[in-house]
Amino acid sequence: MRWLSYLLVALLPWFPLHRPTISRPAPVIKQVLTTQKVVALTFDDGPTRTWTPEILKILKENHVRATFFVVGSHAIQRPEILKDEVDAGMEIGSHGYQHLTLRQKDAAQVKREIEQNEELLTSLGVPKPTLYRLPGGASDATALRVLGDMGYKVIGWSVDTRDWRRRFSASQLVERVMKQVEPGAIIIFHDGPNSSKATVDAVKTLVPDLIKSGWKLDTVSQLLKLERMPHHVS
Ligand SMILES: [Zn+2]
Repeated sequence: MRWLSYLLVALLPWFPLHRPTISRPAPVIKQVLTTQKVVALTFDDGPTRTWTPEILKILKENHVRATFFVVGSHAIQRPEILKDEVDAGMEIGSHGYQHLTLRQKDAAQVKREIEQNEELLTSLGVPKPTLYRLPGGASDATALRVLGDMGYKVIGWSVDTRDWRRRFSASQLVERVMKQVEPGAIIIFHDGPNSSKATVDAVKTLVPDLIKSGWKLDTVSQLLKLERMPHHVS
């Protein structure tokens, strides 16, 4: 029966348990598949003392929640603003510690950027983030694989206000959103150092306008819970 043990040894590397686990890159979620009139407002690059409190005030006045993709190196300079976001029931996602573009970086560099922000945010009393927004929307397979391995959902956007270009008026920003809004839309704004008053003014008009038109505004995590199963087996 020696042939049998030879055979087993030969087959061993093919047995799934003995194969190294190859992780799959996390998908970039740009919109949530739902028929419900629910959308998520997201704000990147903050917190700032100039714009974040104004946006928070508008959200609170309208009793809506949004998701803030926070940059650690900004949060460490203004931890009190981050605390206000958490106290107001906003969701905090990660936008990296240094706003590092996660393309053509090695896995260790990517991991450090993500971990550093995770450590900072949790040290400031924020629950460990589960959502990641890629700076510049840029990534490659290495970055998406590391993010997936670290348990992150990568959140893109379906409505790009392009507010960071500082070229558009508040009404242009509002119009862009109202034209493109759809069930499950993820809308991107910025509350970082390069933002402008146009963003604040747009949000001030947009939030009540959306509500009046029957839209519900919620965080990205809540929106994700509404995802329709694409292949429901009964
Ligand atoms: Zn950014």
